Amino acid sequence: MRGWRLCRLHLATKQGSTVRPLVVFLLLNENGAMLDEVLHLFYPRVCAGCNALLDEGEREICHECIVSFDRFSDADAADRAVKQVFRRTFAADDGLQKAWTLYRFHKNDRLQKVIHAMKYEGVYRLGSVLGELLAEMIGDSVIAARSDCIVPVPLHQLKVIERTYNQSELIARSLGVALGKDVRVDLVARKKYTRSQAGLSPRERLRNVENAFTSSGNAVPGNILLVDDVLTTGSTVAAVMRSLKSAGASNVSLATIALAV
Ligand SMILES: [Zn+2]
Repeated sequence: MRGWRLCRLHLATKQGSTVRPLVVFLLLNENGAMLDEVLHLFYPRVCAGCNALLDEGEREICHECIVSFDRFSDADAADRAVKQVFRRTFAADDGLQKAWTLYRFHKNDRLQKVIHAMKYEGVYRLGSVLGELLAEMIGDSVIAARSDCIVPVPLHQLKVIERTYNQSELIARSLGVALGKDVRVDLVARKKYTRSQAGLSPRERLRNVENAFTSSGNAVPGNILLVDDVLTTGSTVAAVMRSLKSAGASNVSLATIALAV
């Protein structure tokens, strides 16, 4: 069975005016993309942001939704905004070398629906779509080019079992392909099963992730590009950074899809 893989696809399909979730198991070969198109004929897919039927060439998010997201004007503006959040939480930018983030995250907008679908509804291919958009923003940055590897913010093993995947790793893998970098999930682990950061105050968030991460004992390279989905106060990212730096990293940069404002 070399070259074949079993894939589980989570799709949102439209039947009449009703949007239904659909889980399909497929045995795919290298032509998996073509089979996917055939599937689309029978179960037309819809946008994760607005449920409109996707046009040819659109993947998981329609063009209208993508242009509706509150995008940072450029990489420098995104970098300043993230560092400002860090300064607010830690009274310093906590040694963050450079930060990229695509969008400002607002409650109840289409981006929130997209992120929710990626994290909790199994539409894991959104990770690859959003990772490619992030790679476009990062472009040919010297700092990114000098990164030795890409590290996703880890989920606790129990949460990976619950959700079947780590959404930050999906984004990281997509970025890794686009930037030609290795993705390392063996450098830092989440040892504490923390409650969700949602709904916690900044102080509670800091306490919640205190000592949550540990380095695995493997040698950590000097330049790391860390990846997370949404940045809120920076507490989680800072805790991972501390763990990486205590294990040998000199420079840590950050790439996230969105910054909560
Ligand atoms: Zn849409």
